[in-house]
Amino acid sequence: MRLDKFLVECGVGSRKEVKDLVSKGEISVNGKIIKSSQIKLDLEKDEVIYNGNKLEYKEFRYYILYKIDGYITATEDPRDATVMELLPEWVVKKDLFPVGRLDKDTEGLLLFTNDGKLAHELTSPKKHVDKIYYVKLDSPIDEEQIKKLEEGVDIGGYITKPGKVQVISDNEIHLTIKEGKFHQVKKMMIGVGNKLNYLKRVKFGNLVLGNMEPKEVREIKREDII
Ligand code: URA
Repeated sequence: MRLDKFLVECGVGSRKEVKDLVSKGEISVNGKIIKSSQIKLDLEKDEVIYNGNKLEYKEFRYYILYKIDGYITATEDPRDATVMELLPEWVVKKDLFPVGRLDKDTEGLLLFTNDGKLAHELTSPKKHVDKIYYVKLDSPIDEEQIKKLEEGVDIGGYITKPGKVQVISDNEIHLTIKEGKFHQVKKMMIGVGNKLNYLKRVKFGNLVLGNMEPKEVREIKREDII
């Protein structure tokens, strides 16, 4: 791969920016400053350093974020702050996008990747990826509501697939669902005659929020996901 393409793919900058960096002598390959961005690299062997960091080329990248309230799930928006703004400097943002969607006020686990094929698979209704939500309710949950959530709820012309409820306390549950309809959990709670006042996704496929802190980002591997 050519040095300029490599640098762009590693998220160092645009084609023009990386060309400038190379001509300014800011890039070294195997310990030597390189002034031509057209040299060919051997990705197995060559060591490219920028800003004291060894750059690593990865065709596909995967990151998880503990999303906080107040950010919309989109790559850009003219009005609202997007989840992209929660990603720190070290994340290689080139072609990165969030997989699926959490509402502006929903918190919790959000996956980002540049792997379109995987994203499509994960969000396909056929794939049945489990998502677990921590739900704080307005009113205590009762047996009738649990039964409905586990059988399927009419959320306005659509009956949800059976969910799984784990009761934490009178007003708190973990709800497992396999779908991802627009505002699904909120609508399910209304559909059973309750209302949620806090929603957090704690699991997506094999990925768990676990001990992550709000706004924390971790790079993960493809095989960690499903
Ligand atoms: N269900 C919702 O209602 N909102 C979310 O953000 C995710 C699931």
